Amino acid sequence: MDRDTRYSLKKLRKPSPRPLANDPLDQDAPSIGIPAALHLFEDLAFWEMFFSILGIRTVVSRNLKQPVALGKTLAKAEFCAPVMALHGHVVHLLKKTPYVFLPFYFEEKTNQKGVRRQHCYYTQFTPSVLACLDSGEKDRLIMPTIKYLYSSLHTKMALYRALKPVIPHRPLSFFDIHAAWDKAMEFRKTEQARLAAVFQTKTQDVFGVKVLLLGRPYTVLSDTMNHHIPQMFEKMGVQTFFQDMVNTLDLDLSPIRPLLEEIHWKYAARILESAYAAALTDGLYPVYITSFRCSPDAFGVDYFKQIMERCHKPYLVLELDEHDSSVGYETRIEAAVRSFTNHFQSSSRSKAVPMDFSPLFLTGPMTRPLFSPTGIPSPAN
Ligand code: SF4
Repeated sequence: MDRDTRYSLKKLRKPSPRPLANDPLDQDAPSIGIPAALHLFEDLAFWEMFFSILGIRTVVSRNLKQPVALGKTLAKAEFCAPVMALHGHVVHLLKKTPYVFLPFYFEEKTNQKGVRRQHCYYTQFTPSVLACLDSGEKDRLIMPTIKYLYSSLHTKMALYRALKPVIPHRPLSFFDIHAAWDKAMEFRKTEQARLAAVFQTKTQDVFGVKVLLLGRPYTVLSDTMNHHIPQMFEKMGVQTFFQDMVNTLDLDLSPIRPLLEEIHWKYAARILESAYAAALTDGLYPVYITSFRCSPDAFGVDYFKQIMERCHKPYLVLELDEHDSSVGYETRIEAAVRSFTNHFQSSSRSKAVPMDFSPLFLTGPMTRPLFSPTGIPSPAN
């Protein structure tokens, strides 16, 4: 019998067919590997489309089994599991393709003055760490700076320079890069709007408890990293969504704005915005999936809990360990779904209302402000 896919997050998110190259690429086309890991995971469809338009074949390591275990045999220091996994993906691809795409993602540009949205420092320096793994392979890593505070013109120029060795016999013009980038960007925007529309419709159509998964796309959405957590909810008949489907642009975030302005991590801020949206949405319950050794989450989880507790809404936090076993998650998920259902069915549950989350900022003997989410002054030392 076919598996019941009624509540499948994967099915909901399945990308629309995307316009690829004008002519199908043959096996002799130049090729490049794209690791299905860490910062690249979220942008896989974007990069596949970008390279395809340029006539470059892509090899994506989506089906690599046990990337963390492989990465651990290669890494020269202790990292979180997603960084270990990236080690595994890159070395795997180096055996399959002449070049591996490993760009730097430092920071997203924002439209808000003074607000920073940085990738965590592990993500920022991982391409450099991988380039040092084996100096003989360094030239096979294509490492332009893609995400920083520069304009898109700068990014296109960085790609133009970095991709020269990939197509030595048919040099790409700057215009080729420019056109491919803009087309891929347009596709990405359309996809984001589609996901937001799906969320909007489904949250209204599906009665009862629904779950919003919060975390990093490279762990929550990756089958080799997520310990099948989305499927555990699906098996219990619970529809899940991911945070990037929530359109927080239309949400009044002013109650948590002071907190969002202090947080400079891209995903931590996105998680808290989406958690707040879930807190205000009837029937939608957040599940925060974090990774063992994740530094930004060390404080992100605390703020998440405080937001949910102020809104009197049940939630679940799951920490992914580095082992492959899913044992242990199932019991906690079953208990959480029972708790969400009780809350949803309770006639006395109060309707979630926008709450004021105004952390207290103090200036102490240190030169930087002290920040206390609870409103209780933090000790200076
Ligand atoms: S955000 Fe956390 S899980 Fe992701 S790379 Fe940084 S430390 Fe690792």
